[in-house]
Amino acid sequence: MAIRTPWEPNQRIEHGYFRSLQGITVHLREAIKSETDPFKIVRILKTILNTPAFHRYAQETALRMVTNLFVSNAKSWREAARQSSKSRIIYNALQRELQGPVGGAVSFQIQRNAELIKTLPLDIAGRVTDYISEESFKGRRAADIAENIQRMFPENSKAKAQLIARTEVSKTSTALTRARAENIGLDWYEWRTSEDQRVRSSHKHMDRVLVRWTDPPSPEELIGERSYGHYHSGDIFNCRCYPAPLTGIDRVSWPHKVYMNGTITMMTLSQFRQLAA
Ligand SMILES: [Zn+2]
Repeated sequence: MAIRTPWEPNQRIEHGYFRSLQGITVHLREAIKSETDPFKIVRILKTILNTPAFHRYAQETALRMVTNLFVSNAKSWREAARQSSKSRIIYNALQRELQGPVGGAVSFQIQRNAELIKTLPLDIAGRVTDYISEESFKGRRAADIAENIQRMFPENSKAKAQLIARTEVSKTSTALTRARAENIGLDWYEWRTSEDQRVRSSHKHMDRVLVRWTDPPSPEELIGERSYGHYHSGDIFNCRCYPAPLTGIDRVSWPHKVYMNGTITMMTLSQFRQLAA
């Protein structure tokens, strides 16, 4: 059994975000409810995207998710502070943080997520268009096609909503942890995985490896796979890994695996101290 750490991303927030994204679909279905012309349905879906009400909804949904993560991530830091010699520094930073780089990270994530939410209606409109051309080709009546389109909701956005919720909660969580860590001069973190069957092999290879915020690895390259570029723990699609900031050198056992400049090396504490100095 894996021991839970305070840094693990909050699944409750992920589920809540998913439900809000699906809520958009319910709203869209409502807007096309009495339509019998399939092409008009597509037009309506595309128009909704540009309404102020939809923009407001996207903004509020993103704001709620990021704020929830912000609060839950702060709790992780307070928990870490209790076990760390740097507790005073961490507490003080949490008090002042919204004025500094952390506040910047928060508003950046809200904007990014709001933009992503706005892609949902377009994604659905695209699916509906494909569906219309397939069905018309089969010679089906427009009204029947329109009726089926209504029934496709909210299933037709489920996969996309799930991908957004999982990926974005993880990415935002990593961004908040990073902003808070760098703000108080914690340069290193330990790459943690969810430690279950679904962890991809490239990330399994990174489990418990120490990484510096300024030097992200390409986990795929490290095991000879095609690279997705260099990125931090949790900062890629469908990833449930997370960074656990190294709040004290005694927080991990030594010797320990360290990633640096494209390779993973087993290092003793004194080797690591020279590096971190
Ligand atoms: Zn991962």
